[in-house]
Amino acid sequence: MSSDTVVKVENLSHQYGAGAGTFAALDAVDVQLEAGQVTALLGPNGAGKTTLIKLLLGLLPLQQGNISVLGCAPGSDRARQRTGVMLQASGVQDNLTVLELLRLFAVLYRHSQDIVALLQRLDLAALAEKRFQTLSGGQQQRVLLAIALCGDPQLLILDEPSTGMDPAARRSFWQVLRECRDQGRAILLCTHYMDEAEQLADNVLVMEQGRVLMHASAAAIRQRVPSQLIKLSTSLGDEHINRLQGVQSVMAVNGRMHIYCHRAENVLRELLAADPGASELEVGGADLETAFLALTKKPDNHLEQAA
Ligand code: ATP
Repeated sequence: MSSDTVVKVENLSHQYGAGAGTFAALDAVDVQLEAGQVTALLGPNGAGKTTLIKLLLGLLPLQQGNISVLGCAPGSDRARQRTGVMLQASGVQDNLTVLELLRLFAVLYRHSQDIVALLQRLDLAALAEKRFQTLSGGQQQRVLLAIALCGDPQLLILDEPSTGMDPAARRSFWQVLRECRDQGRAILLCTHYMDEAEQLADNVLVMEQGRVLMHASAAAIRQRVPSQLIKLSTSLGDEHINRLQGVQSVMAVNGRMHIYCHRAENVLRELLAADPGASELEVGGADLETAFLALTKKPDNHLEQAA
């Protein structure tokens, strides 16, 4: 474990239920989070992301495997003092003002930040005297980030933090996260927004059915899955298209087929031979979302860790 390693997870498994109703939510997961890096945690619903986060925070008991947070057990006093958290169901006393809330949380930490400076940095100074319940969804999210930062955390765990923000608010939120990263904090960012992962992530952790499908840089994921996206109108069904060599996945979107593949020219040759009447053709490079979909759509797309 290097001195920059903030979180180390080894061989982590977690089951819910008991007896015949046992369900494996995590299965032999290995993860490492480094100081000064944003790791985006991606995966379809039920992949195990929240279970992993809860275990990192000590909110679930450790059943199998090892977790070290800043060299300590998850949930220990030292780990909690240096961890900032924004969960989906963050409940705060919503009749308090923004300033009151931050003062309230700051006293819980030994290394609390200067609250006034924090409010200014997060563009919240003008809202300091407003009650939390009167703020818009995006403003509330920014206050919750301020609360997560008020203990000057070395580790920041953010579960879908930009939900409810308008595009301008999201961009300024991303800027704050970049500053946090540049200050040397390790950030775990659970998001369903691919553009968010693409904008911010140094590493991407893709989970599915309790397992880590891939942990790599965003660039490496694109390289390992050199996906291209073909869009076209065709009389061919998705089952037929899926059988063509090089096709990773197929989706019908607004009356056209979206075909994710490795080499568009090879697929197109076969497609046009099978359906010469295909029309409205578009071919483009893939973004992270495409690569991610391709990774999770087909079970036979076996990819090893590349980090
Ligand atoms: P989402 O994107 O929908 O938030 P997730 O990746 O966070 O999903 P988890 O919430 O970790 O997924 O759930 C992983 C699996 O464990 C799911 O199949 C879920 O139904 C199951 N699960 C989660 N919590 C419990 C629980 N308390 N009891 C039983 N099963 C649970």
